[in-house]
Amino acid sequence: MKKEIESGYLLGKIDELLNKVGCPICELTSESVDDNIDALFYENVNDPSERKKFSFGPGFCPKHLKMVEDHLRAHPELGILGVSVLYGTISDEIMHALNGESIKFGANCQMCAIEKDSEKRYLDLFEQYISNDERLKRYESSISMVCLKHTNELIKAEINPNFKRVQISKMERVINSLKEFVRKSDYRYSKESVFLMEGEAWRIVSKFLS
Ligand SMILES: [Zn+2]
Ligand SMILES: [Zn+2]
Repeated sequence: MKKEIESGYLLGKIDELLNKVGCPICELTSESVDDNIDALFYENVNDPSERKKFSFGPGFCPKHLKMVEDHLRAHPELGILGVSVLYGTISDEIMHALNGESIKFGANCQMCAIEKDSEKRYLDLFEQYISNDERLKRYESSISMVCLKHTNELIKAEINPNFKRVQISKMERVINSLKEFVRKSDYRYSKESVFLMEGEAWRIVSKFLS
């Protein structure tokens, strides 16, 4: 029963994300990593086992270093004491690397592990979402677009034979919107109004490929 309530709540989160440009699976995954970054710097940095995970990395991979940077910039209330303590735990490795030792920073990045788990969980959830034709229709008419990587995974999982057709027709619409935007940018047609989808098409393509 608890599981049903939980997944009902999560399916509702997908409904919300349908109004947003981007892949719902990628969005939920990145939200979950971001929550973990927040928890790490909010209090977990005081936990020796968390610091150990970080030095085992050693450190974060480049993608998650950037996410940490963005997160701390967006949340100045977290301060920089935690991150300074944490980064200080790999000072030896940093100096050794400067001395020519080959150290693969971020090879065991703890955020990569969290990301992998979340991605798997949200891929399963989205499979559940599109297993229902009514929900698939809702997705079809929305501005969100599952990215190429997750499209291939969902098609391979053979959850709903209609999913592939939906993706193709969604992408055709996006590409048409993209072309319409370019056409209307010509001064001869500049009186025609630009639709929301036409202005967003480039972002949809960008998120689809990233
Ligand atoms: Zn995705
Ligand atoms: Zn990482």
